[in-house]
Amino acid sequence: MNNTEFYDRLGVSKNASPDEIKKAYRKLSKKYHPDINKDAGAEDKYKEVQEAYETLSDPQKRASYDQFGAAGANGGFGGGGFGGFDGAGFGGFEDIFSSFFGGGTAQRNPNAPRQGDDLQYRVNLKFEEAIFGAEKEVSYNREATCRTCTGSGAKPGTSPVTCGRCHGSGVINVDTQTPLGTMRRQMTCDVCHGRGKQIKDPCTTCRGTGHEKQAHTVTVKVPAGVETGQRIRLAGQGEAGFNGGSYGDLYVVVQVEASDKFEREGTTILYKLDLNFVQAALGDTVHVPTVHGDVDMVIPEGTQTGKTFRLKGKGAPSIRGGAMGDQYVTVNVVTPTGLNDRQKAALKDFAAAGNINVHPQKKGFFDKVKDAFDEL
Ligand code: ZN
Ligand code: ZN
Repeated sequence: MNNTEFYDRLGVSKNASPDEIKKAYRKLSKKYHPDINKDAGAEDKYKEVQEAYETLSDPQKRASYDQFGAAGANGGFGGGGFGGFDGAGFGGFEDIFSSFFGGGTAQRNPNAPRQGDDLQYRVNLKFEEAIFGAEKEVSYNREATCRTCTGSGAKPGTSPVTCGRCHGSGVINVDTQTPLGTMRRQMTCDVCHGRGKQIKDPCTTCRGTGHEKQAHTVTVKVPAGVETGQRIRLAGQGEAGFNGGSYGDLYVVVQVEASDKFEREGTTILYKLDLNFVQAALGDTVHVPTVHGDVDMVIPEGTQTGKTFRLKGKGAPSIRGGAMGDQYVTVNVVTPTGLNDRQKAALKDFAAAGNINVHPQKKGFFDKVKDAFDEL
């Protein structure tokens, strides 16, 4: 709120004395008087100076202006019939708004429909269910509209009556004497607690609240591709509203169980494939599990630990639709243990048959594994 402009118009400070204001006004009204000054805009200037002086020369109007700006000094907010500055005095900004808007923020219309509370429910999904989607039945207790009174809170055959104290407004006026005069405040009605209605004969099921706990079951369609932490909103499956307001919503929060075979990062599924060193050295065709069923995968000869293969389209779908992700298969060559004598002899023969070509690894093993993933 601009409450310095009038001072600016007169070219005085906010602390100017009444005398200074008067002097400034005289000087400026001479300067801009339409009879004297024929410049374009002089007349407007003159009017602005008049307006500013009218307010600042009156101690009460000046005080209002200092506190509330031009709207205050003119005695109304938007012309809505507010007259507090002329008469009984005023307590402060809050009081002005209270009398103006019927109670300000704390006291909205008590009879307005209000939506019920939202609820949250955690649903556990198997690894595969999250990938392919699932239908889950969830059961929970919620505050529902009372079936006995259909939400009115009054015993069947009776109805709530308008509160006799506040006449249905939910608020009452309280007058307080202050040095400035009578100050009127609005407070929440102490009889109906702001509801505006009184129930003389409460419903025995809900004790007048209009709500009762009820077991409730809904089927949740979990979309394919969900991940832990994602929420599915089911409109109207939360708790009952007030004053005929709609039900709140249910948020189903997904928790996906880990798989003992796979790991998942978004639409990508990771799988670790153990190979024995003969398969790795000579190559092989192996069955690799995927969530879409086993696939045959060709392992080329000389495959090293850490090598990663891609199985296109064998991952998880995006929850937003589109193509299926991929599965990445990372090889882990397992050194055999517990060899029998024949195997040991064969390996000795193998070693004697020629140089075993071990490429010196420039990078450490872990770097290579990391690189393989970085390429993905
Ligand atoms: Zn009831
Ligand atoms: Zn009341």
